[in-house]
Amino acid sequence: MKRVGMAAAALIGAAAVGWAASAISARAADASVPILLYHRFHPTISRYATVTTPTFEAQLCWLAEHRYKVAPLASVVAALRGGVPLDPMTVVITADDGRRSQYTEMFPIIRRLQVPVTLFVYTHAVGYEPDALTWDQIAEMAQSGLVDVQSHTVSHPHFNRERARRRPADYEFFVAAELAQSKKTIEERLNRPVEFLAWPYGVFNLDFERAAVEAGYSAAFVVGGRPARAGGDLFDLPRIVVSDADRGDKFERLLLLGGGAPVASNEPLASCAAHGAAPASP
Ligand SMILES: [Zn+2]
Repeated sequence: MKRVGMAAAALIGAAAVGWAASAISARAADASVPILLYHRFHPTISRYATVTTPTFEAQLCWLAEHRYKVAPLASVVAALRGGVPLDPMTVVITADDGRRSQYTEMFPIIRRLQVPVTLFVYTHAVGYEPDALTWDQIAEMAQSGLVDVQSHTVSHPHFNRERARRRPADYEFFVAAELAQSKKTIEERLNRPVEFLAWPYGVFNLDFERAAVEAGYSAAFVVGGRPARAGGDLFDLPRIVVSDADRGDKFERLLLLGGGAPVASNEPLASCAAHGAAPASP
């Protein structure tokens, strides 16, 4: 019985490897790339939209150990725009909402492992909301060369709800101001161009796209649960939400399919040092 069990396990293992390999070659053919989305980090507690720092570190180590390359968002958008072939092992990391844990928990890890990350911040919160980053923290991260800071509007509004309660002219002005002012504020604070936008709550339509083009953005992001593909709308680029449960096999399925198929994983959490893995390159 034991031998049969081991043979079956070997077959299942081989099938899993074959599945991952074919998913990766499909990715090379359609020039798609998973753009991961994080929000909060915490040393131990995993609540809604919070990934614990040991899990985050284990995910980065898993990427390095499996030869994934974490690329800056701007280089991937340029490749998607120009139809340039992407390395199928490319992955992008983004974090939304400008939460303070992105400085206290995430930044030390990405600095140690030299992993590039794009932050999407909504400017009204910065230095104001208790759980938000300060401009000093954002500037320090930007100066590291690893962290790119882009816009998530001024006040993180739900644009559809705002449309329901505003007059049309007022609503149009409101949308334009949310997009333009956040871009201007970040550019003035950091003295760097802001060209990307993350739609609050992932709410998007073609009117918003026109407003974003008018405000000077060149690409924008939603929450899509699938990899971003060349040839898609550059203002509707999907990202994949990562949770604390995404470890080992489950993390791999999230990367390859985007939807995070519910696969149980017994993969232990381990540091890169414990695995002796090389850090991911920027
Ligand atoms: Zn948000």
